Amino acid sequence: MPFGHLAYPRRIPRRVGGLGMSRTRSWWGWGTVEDALDELERADLLARVAAMMPGAVLAAHEPPDVATLDLPPARLVPPAPLAALCSTEPVDRAAHSRGKAFRDVVRNLSGDLPEVPDLVVRPVEERDVVDVLDWCSREAVAVVAYGGGSSVVGGVEPRLDGDYAGSVSLDLGRLDRVLEVDRTSRAARIQAGVLGPRLEDQLRPHGLSLRFFPQSFEFSSLGGWLATHAGGHFATLQTHIDDLVESLRVVTPVGTSQSRRLPASGAGPSPDQLFLGSEGILGVITEAWMRLQERPRWRRGASVHFADYAAAVDATRAVAQSGLHPANCRLLDPVEASWRPASRPGAACSCSGSSPPTTRWTPRWTARSSSAGNTAARWPNRPAGATRTGRRATAPPRPGVRRSCACPTSGTCSPSTG
Ligand SMILES: Cc1cc2nc3c(=O)[nH]c(=O)nc-3n(C[C@H](O)[C@H](O)[C@H](O)COP(=O)(O)OP(=O)(O)OC[C@H]3O[C@@H](n4cnc5c(N)ncnc54)[C@H](O)[C@@H]3O)c2cc1C
Repeated sequence: MPFGHLAYPRRIPRRVGGLGMSRTRSWWGWGTVEDALDELERADLLARVAAMMPGAVLAAHEPPDVATLDLPPARLVPPAPLAALCSTEPVDRAAHSRGKAFRDVVRNLSGDLPEVPDLVVRPVEERDVVDVLDWCSREAVAVVAYGGGSSVVGGVEPRLDGDYAGSVSLDLGRLDRVLEVDRTSRAARIQAGVLGPRLEDQLRPHGLSLRFFPQSFEFSSLGGWLATHAGGHFATLQTHIDDLVESLRVVTPVGTSQSRRLPASGAGPSPDQLFLGSEGILGVITEAWMRLQERPRWRRGASVHFADYAAAVDATRAVAQSGLHPANCRLLDPVEASWRPASRPGAACSCSGSSPPTTRWTPRWTARSSSAGNTAARWPNRPAGATRTGRRATAPPRPGVRRSCACPTSGTCSPSTG
């Protein structure tokens, strides 16, 4: 299989789509044009893949030029008031025709795009969403909501089964603001098109975080997370987006639905459950009140290496069932570990909190892992006073925050500004 030009960014850009930095999304693959692999990185990647797949044909394959793709002509003309929000640019239509599953990338690289949306529409306010749905309902136009476009199940593809005049990809990327923060209840009202990094950028000044980190964090949106029942890979315990929702606002073809914002309810089925995981078939999520957490100020991580996979699985389960609730506990198999230069196969665990850990947690976790058969353990603490990015934490302790921890560990921990 041709496998020479990958879209994976060479580093994780901190603020793609965030404040003050613009990047060009790759139309055919993951990541941005600016962060695509350079020649050296590509050669290194090819060497690794070749080692894993001896005998595979790894010929270079450049992505096709969109201008040569011969896309079907757009069938729709938007009404004048919506025209300014619409694009028929071939690159826009091509980029919105697929998600980011491996098969999507392969099909894009092959120039295989038989179905593309006729229009890409980018609303700037909720009223625009209502107007687009009204027009599309009148004209029998199919609407596909588009958040970050990271779907791996064909969720953003304009595959039309019925008798439609055409299709619109409704890109919510401009609805990307945190509208209101309730510091007391630790919640925020957030527009659904916001991508992960920009969301966290807006919550950071409040000392808060949604703390929801799917692997697609950089290029997936709050609305997409809600519409797909997403799971935050990089966290244990509260990993499900559903658990973080207080209420939803959804524009449907027959009106706007707004659920009551409640900390919890025992009154029958929740209307939010209708829309969570609905993949946009019932309406367009425009806003949500989401539960937040204090932004962690202290972090500590450790990894344990295992001679065999079964023992690592047992140890990871033991940690998950122990009640220790590490912020993140992750099992890496040899293949995944080989893609991460600092990792070896085994389980990696981290603890974070808003006050510094003190005693017990680390040895307890190690003991759990050891009893299940680890062969080595190490505690790669970040330098005291350094954040994940290596900068010194500057935030002074807030009054009233104890310098001990309900989530205790032993040894030195690293303050974090996150
Ligand atoms: C590299 C990679 C890593 C991934 N990691 C994870 C992971 O860790 N956890 C996980 O759960 N998933 C993961 N996914 C899958 C994907 O990222 C999730 O499904 C994500 O929630 C989709 O969000 P999105 O904004 O990109 O949505 P899109 O891809 O734009 O849309 C997904 C679906 O939701 C609908 N939709 C989008 N926005 C709205 C809205 N505002 N209102 C109504 N419907 C809407 C779309 O029509 C579509 O059906 C990963 C995908 C990739 C490619």
